[in-house]
Amino acid sequence: LIAEKGLLAEVNLVEEVSHEGIGVNISGCHGFCQMGPLVRFEPSGLLYCKVQESDCEEIIEASVANDSVVERLLYVNPTTGESVKTQDEIPFYKRQQRVTLKDCGRIDPDDINDYIAHGGYQAIAKILFELKPEDVVKEVLDSGLRGRGGGGFPTGRKWSFAASQPGPKKYVICNGDEGDPGAFMDRSVMEGNPHSVLEGMMIAGFAIGADEGYIYARAEYPLAIKRMRKAIADAEALGVLGQGVLGTDFNFKINIKEGAGAFVCGEETALIASIEGERGMPRPRPPFPAVKGLWACPTIINNVETLANLSAIILNGANWFKGFGTPSSAGTKTFALAGQIQNTGLVEVPMGMTLREIVFDIGGGLREGKKYKSVQIGGPSGGCLTEDKLDLPLDYDELLKVGAMIGSGGLVVMGDDTCMVETAKFFMGFVQNESCGKCVPCREGTKQLLALLTKITEGKGTESDLDLLAELAQNVKDGSLCGLGKTAPNPVLTTLRYFRDEYLAHVRDKK
Ligand code: SF4
Repeated sequence: LIAEKGLLAEVNLVEEVSHEGIGVNISGCHGFCQMGPLVRFEPSGLLYCKVQESDCEEIIEASVANDSVVERLLYVNPTTGESVKTQDEIPFYKRQQRVTLKDCGRIDPDDINDYIAHGGYQAIAKILFELKPEDVVKEVLDSGLRGRGGGGFPTGRKWSFAASQPGPKKYVICNGDEGDPGAFMDRSVMEGNPHSVLEGMMIAGFAIGADEGYIYARAEYPLAIKRMRKAIADAEALGVLGQGVLGTDFNFKINIKEGAGAFVCGEETALIASIEGERGMPRPRPPFPAVKGLWACPTIINNVETLANLSAIILNGANWFKGFGTPSSAGTKTFALAGQIQNTGLVEVPMGMTLREIVFDIGGGLREGKKYKSVQIGGPSGGCLTEDKLDLPLDYDELLKVGAMIGSGGLVVMGDDTCMVETAKFFMGFVQNESCGKCVPCREGTKQLLALLTKITEGKGTESDLDLLAELAQNVKDGSLCGLGKTAPNPVLTTLRYFRDEYLAHVRDKK
């Protein structure tokens, strides 16, 4: 029986059923936020939704003591109106392909033995006893894995730059500074399967010749940080992390750095500055971190989700990984579904799945009978996808062609009553607030863009303001130093492109 954590503290499910000879695992999030807290029985897959403390006695009576179900706690398919008993039959789960999230919502994140029982730390054993560092770099290069944090840079290429740098000191940084509004993929992985992140960091460390790593996680993620700390302590105690990993001469130490929540610290060089104790501000590149990074040593920075893919790639091989996704974007991607959608939550699908499948088949369509209008993908750096993009395969390159980007994977779904100019203004307000102020185009440009958007939404704009908006947005994009400024105008540019009529309505009708 697997219950989401949080439920346990209140109902003590473990003690209630242990006398029945049934094991209870308290897991991290199962991903289906809309229906949580969830309780699942294995191996049957029977799933109870929205379980409250007061329901537990009934669950135990029906499904533990007797071979029965509590009908009212089953998922009801909104299309057919029928109750669905098992997780695999629920459309939200049926269409997913879970690699990164495979064990999230399945294992106890606080129990290293549970991770090991599900194949954990086998990949690190394999590379230490069977492979050379260059074999590991090649495997990751061949797998086609691209950075899941936003840019989509090939992970193996990044590693090969760092691996070719002379030692003796190199670093691996795990970027857990997830700051996009509506995104919680990294948080869920750190909370639900922390050891998979540690194992990924060790694989990366072995591949490039690093003996130390940092996890940079925002302080607003206290549970993730707590679980990562416990995972580090348990792995060290068991000898799978630290000095002489598994009795070999490979040493790897992992530290945690709590970030104060500045969005710009997700940018690699700002993140490095923050770990070094400086103000989190981006630095010009080159030199790239792979050559001169943390404390001027070669450093690779990979996002949480990227790292959580690595053990599966090592164990199953590059070809297996390439079996998912598209030729240019291999593997799967987690997306956070938020906004006016029926099924909010975290999903993992093969790259190349269409937006229509994600929003309607998995997400169940829009809430309260609303009509689809747009999806903001990739947070404030991304863009909006209109109805005619519903059949676009979601991968790195296809999205760039339409002026958007996968980013870290936040999908905010908007219905037909959403004002797209207000949406652009919301994201501009966010980035303007988060601009570190180092360079003029971003510092002043975002301020002026926000002022123009405010003027337009208050009914005080003119048609010439729309031209000014487009010109200024392009200048900010071209002239900013780092990714934050370079991508900040994306929501303005995409809404201007696809929803110009709404801007015109504001300036013509003055509302
Ligand atoms: Fe700072 Fe913005 Fe310049 Fe980046 S683009 S360095 S966030 S001011």
